Amino acid sequence: MTLSSDGQTAAAADVDVIVIGAGFGGLTATYRMRERGLDVLSFERGLDVGGTWYWNRYPGARTDSEGSFYRLNLFDDIVEPFSFKEKFPAQPEVLAYLGRVADELDLRKHYRFGVSVDAVVYDESTGRWQVRTDDGQDYTAKYVVSAVGIQSEPLVPDLPGRENFGGRIYHTAKWPADPVDLDGCRIAVIGTGSSGIQIIPQAADVASKLYVLQRTPTYSVPMVNKELTEEEQRELIESLPEIRKAVRDHPFSMPYSFSGRSALDVTDEERDAIYGEGWAKGGFRFMIESFDDIGTTKEANDTVSEWLRAKIHSIVEDPVTAAKLTPNYPYTVKRPPSGVEFFESFNKDHVELIALRESPLVSFSEKGLVLEDRELEVDVVILATGFDFVTGSLYKLNVQGRGGLPLSERWADGLSNYLSVTLHGFPNFFVLGGPLYPGGNWPTVAEEVSTYIANVIAEGEKRSAQVIETKAEVEEAWVAHVNELASQSLMAQYGKDANAYGLGANIEGKLQSVFFYLGGAQVLFDQFDHEAASGYPGFEMS
Ligand code: NAP
Repeated sequence: MTLSSDGQTAAAADVDVIVIGAGFGGLTATYRMRERGLDVLSFERGLDVGGTWYWNRYPGARTDSEGSFYRLNLFDDIVEPFSFKEKFPAQPEVLAYLGRVADELDLRKHYRFGVSVDAVVYDESTGRWQVRTDDGQDYTAKYVVSAVGIQSEPLVPDLPGRENFGGRIYHTAKWPADPVDLDGCRIAVIGTGSSGIQIIPQAADVASKLYVLQRTPTYSVPMVNKELTEEEQRELIESLPEIRKAVRDHPFSMPYSFSGRSALDVTDEERDAIYGEGWAKGGFRFMIESFDDIGTTKEANDTVSEWLRAKIHSIVEDPVTAAKLTPNYPYTVKRPPSGVEFFESFNKDHVELIALRESPLVSFSEKGLVLEDRELEVDVVILATGFDFVTGSLYKLNVQGRGGLPLSERWADGLSNYLSVTLHGFPNFFVLGGPLYPGGNWPTVAEEVSTYIANVIAEGEKRSAQVIETKAEVEEAWVAHVNELASQSLMAQYGKDANAYGLGANIEGKLQSVFFYLGGAQVLFDQFDHEAASGYPGFEMS
């Protein structure tokens, strides 16, 4: 084994498996592959592990899933469970957690950091994947696992004049590791999704003037975060086995119970009280524990959407600003964020909301941003403009399957795969976080999918198979089920009104299709188990 000058192990040119990514998915996949005795080489474009948590270092960044289940069971099984200090851990804590995972499991030695994968091409003559990286190196591998992340290709607005702007521009998903001084600055934040609603209150605290440029209004519920006492941390660690069980069997992989109630079966007073209790509990508990049908039927959804709209008006003092902040599409059609004092920020005198549908953004100028009807003079522009969801980062890999078919062409007219992981025509290629994945708690999904991939590969190896490939008819049947569920969803019906990224609607020209599997994460995990129990009938292993 040789060491390169940066101390990393020099990579062999031919390996059993190449893993791309070092977030929750890439780390678990790397570990699982090694555990199965495979020779694994992993690439990560960041300079260290962390994935999302390596890049998204903006002020206020924290997970909106509780640390009690935003974690890896795999890791908890091997080393003493990590105690998060806050109920909803902030970015530095999650990054430290993933760093510890990498250290304790000795995963860094598999990685080439600061390296992007540019091409992943299947060579039918050898049955191996050819992988090219941006440093001009070529590798071959029997298997490739893409764990490049679902929200990792940042969207940057195509605004002219950027080069003339005399101030600083930051994207939340490419936030510098060095401290960024925003004190006393005039700041414009573009975007009010989950990242925007986290950074806006932080920016409001330090800016001399803050403009919030909003295209589509968002619903946001309070996160209700808190620091955990040592006793609470201890209790939480003790309850991890119970939490793990609940998470495994939950559609969103969260240990929250459904109420068994319909929003339409209670009186107006009872409903208001239940929403009020949910609001006080905060986070995803508001959505999951209030009523079972708010995410599925329009009539039930109307009750929660109306309640939340009224709530915005009760928090935001200026009625004109409140009206601009109020969404008109159904709650949950866009992924519901939870934040800290987001709506309250607009009660500060120096915070101004700009509704871009009324005053469209035209360009950068030397002094700031030009709207159709005025110029905003600012020192800093923060792009909280989100991502090219799922396919953005996958397409950058330039994957070509049998016959040189690019992945982007395979999905040009419709998303398709088997259990979100494999595709006919792309043998020995596995996607962790592909289209049609269940939108549940990410570490849980990443871990279950990694384990499934490792099991499929292990089975292929046991049978001395050179090729593991999803059967075309099995993929078709699965996708028919996925599409049937999607077609009945509120997202399919109303996602366009909301610019929902889950429908590809946030990007002009992107395929408009429900990007999620809506049957529930636990159903997908059951399918994984079913494949294993019945001898992997979904695959040709030859
Ligand atoms: P996002 O939800 O897609 O929000 C992007 C925002 O930027 C939207 O308000 C969007 O407006 C706006 N935007 C995009 N392009 C624009 C343009 N050209 N001009 C003006 N506005 C523009 O992205 P995000 O906030 O980064 O969050 C993405 C996902 O990452 C979340 O849904 C979540 O899954 C994850 N995330 C999680 C956390 C957490 O756990 N706490 C935190 C951050 C992110 P439109 O709505 O009109 O498109």
